[in-house]
This record gives sequence, structure tokens and C-alpha cells, in this order.
Amino acid sequence: MDYLNNFADERLIIGCIYCSGGLEETRDHVPSRILLEPPYPANLPVVPACRDCNAGFSLDEEYFAALLECVLAGSTDPAKIRHERVARGLERNFALRERLESSKREENGRIVFAVEEGRIRNVICKLAKGHATYELSTPYRAEPDLISWCPISEMTKDEWEDFDAAHVGGAINEIGSRNMQRLLATQVLLESENGERIPMNLLVNDWIEVQAGRYRYQAIDELDVVRIKIVIAEYLACEVVWSRDSY
Ligand SMILES: [Zn+2]
Repeated sequence: MDYLNNFADERLIIGCIYCSGGLEETRDHVPSRILLEPPYPANLPVVPACRDCNAGFSLDEEYFAALLECVLAGSTDPAKIRHERVARGLERNFALRERLESSKREENGRIVFAVEEGRIRNVICKLAKGHATYELSTPYRAEPDLISWCPISEMTKDEWEDFDAAHVGGAINEIGSRNMQRLLATQVLLESENGERIPMNLLVNDWIEVQAGRYRYQAIDELDVVRIKIVIAEYLACEVVWSRDSY
């Protein structure tokens, strides 16, 4: 993916972006590489994280990645999992495989997995915090006002088109942040009733593709909310929102 320097004030990001307490001892990839496939893209975004937070998410991320691949394969059998690293992980981690297998059932001829919601929330929230920090040059450590996810196949056509669209608006970003640099300024001509043409400037905030078909996200900085949208494996649509007064 494109490498953009952060020209915003680096003092905005101090310490671990997840807990603020810990020292920034490690660099955490967002997204974690387990959600991608080799060869990994160059210039993967990294954010500062303390050792405890970095390690603290790894079991939930392993669960999340394994669940996703099992859902896509309709099976917990490593031989049927397309994602090599996840398949190898399931071969080694018998307890995780058992846990996923016991959450599997058949419903109207479909394989369905009962998900551990707390762990899914934890991973999606962590991903959103990483994207927000990297793109908007500000850590959002507070609990978000909304964490939601939905398989794209369960969304209506309108819901999906709305979710999948580029964000158009006049955003206010931290000057110099990556998000500011990515914004595409465009001008449209509006025609009034008497035929007068009025130019209007728009800012278009498009999807940032980390790996085609595997992972993309949008970081939207609006007047009243900060909104992170993520699409994983073109299967799962996730959204995390902080309202301005909550952070
Ligand atoms: Zn931390």
C-alpha cells in the first residue's frame, strides 16, 4: 500500500495507543498479519503499543482469524481451510479447533457458528483504534460508542451500497495527517433552476486497500463523529464509531 509520512504533530501520539499507560515498546501492525495472506503488502501501517497490549490481543486475534476462515470454508478441518497460516494454526491448536467445532451447527442446510461476541468486539475495536491513530494522527483510547459487524451476505442491497460507498463531505482533519493527504479534492458543478452553474468543492475519502480481496478500510473524520469502516475478506463489514464528546 502507499506509504505516507505523518506530517501532523507527533506529540499527539504518546505511549501505547491502546492503554496510554504502557511504554511504546513495540510496533503493532494494523491490521495484524494473520488477517492477510503472504506475500504481505509493503509498508503495512504500524502503531506504538506496549508489550502487554500487543500480547494481550493475540489470542483473540487468533480466534477471530480462525473463525473467519472456518466460516468461509464451512468447516473446521484444516485441510479445507484456504488460509495456510490459519490452517497450520488449527492443526497445532487442538483446543481452538475443538472450541470452534463445538460452536458449529447446521441450520436450514447451512453451517452456522455461534461466535464469542466479546472476542470479536475486542479485535474489531483494536483494529479501529489502530486505523484511527494511523490515519487521523490521534489515538482514540476511549470505548467507542458503536462496534458493529455483519456478514455482507446478510445486508440488504441498499445497506451494502451505503456502506461500500466512498465518503463524500467536507472533513476537518488534523493538518498533515495521512487522512488529510489521502483526501481527493474534487469539484462538481451544480446547476440551479435558472441555469446558473455553481461550483462546489467536495472531499472524497475513499477506501484504503491493504490487500485486494482481504482487507480494506476507511477512516472518516466528521464534525460530530469519527467513523472507521472495515471490510475483511470481502465477507465481513465492520463499523466503529466514536462521537466527538466521548473522547
Ligand atoms: Zn498498552
